[in-house]
Amino acid sequence: MRFDKPAYPTVYFSDKIWVKCPNCNQRALITTDLGRYTIPFPTEHQSVLICDNCGYRKENNEEWFGYYQGFVGRSCSFCGSHISFTSQPTKQPFQSTMIECAVCKNEKEYSINWYRYKENKPTDPFFGLELWLQTDVKGNILWLYNLDHLCYLKEYVSAKLREDDGRHKYSMISNLPQWIKSSKNRDLILKKLSRLEQELIK
Ligand SMILES: [Zn+2]
Ligand SMILES: [Zn+2]
Repeated sequence: MRFDKPAYPTVYFSDKIWVKCPNCNQRALITTDLGRYTIPFPTEHQSVLICDNCGYRKENNEEWFGYYQGFVGRSCSFCGSHISFTSQPTKQPFQSTMIECAVCKNEKEYSINWYRYKENKPTDPFFGLELWLQTDVKGNILWLYNLDHLCYLKEYVSAKLREDDGRHKYSMISNLPQWIKSSKNRDLILKKLSRLEQELIK
């Protein structure tokens, strides 16, 4: 069998993502209108998270479930010396913080720039929630967004011959780790993927 599908980037599959519901830990779905399609990341997008199990619902990134870290990098208002501040990782960003200048010792309230970070596990890019479809393959985590993504990978892994056009820099296929590409893991990966598929469609 030949794998002759285009090399889709992972973002191609991100319109529907199964995640763990932050309220009940059951399977919830994030549906995203990817808007203008850009590689590697979609720019304008509308996402909604819905859990059929408990009714939990969030829209348009009103909440980030990873964590934030804040930074201040600027000149002291009094003496012009460089001031830099890095916050602890937090779930709740705040507006500003008092910082004492190391040089002139004057203290002032400075506003903080916050950045989003993901937990160190497979998460979705819109809410930062842990992915539902993941499985361990010899200590590596194989993760997927949805059933289409799963079927696509299954077809890729089971194909003996692969088209390798190498044109798509950001394609999922070219970014796949070697342990997925390696033929010696083929049967195990297919078994794990089939099990995930069964669980998803039952
Ligand atoms: Zn729920
Ligand atoms: Zn100063």
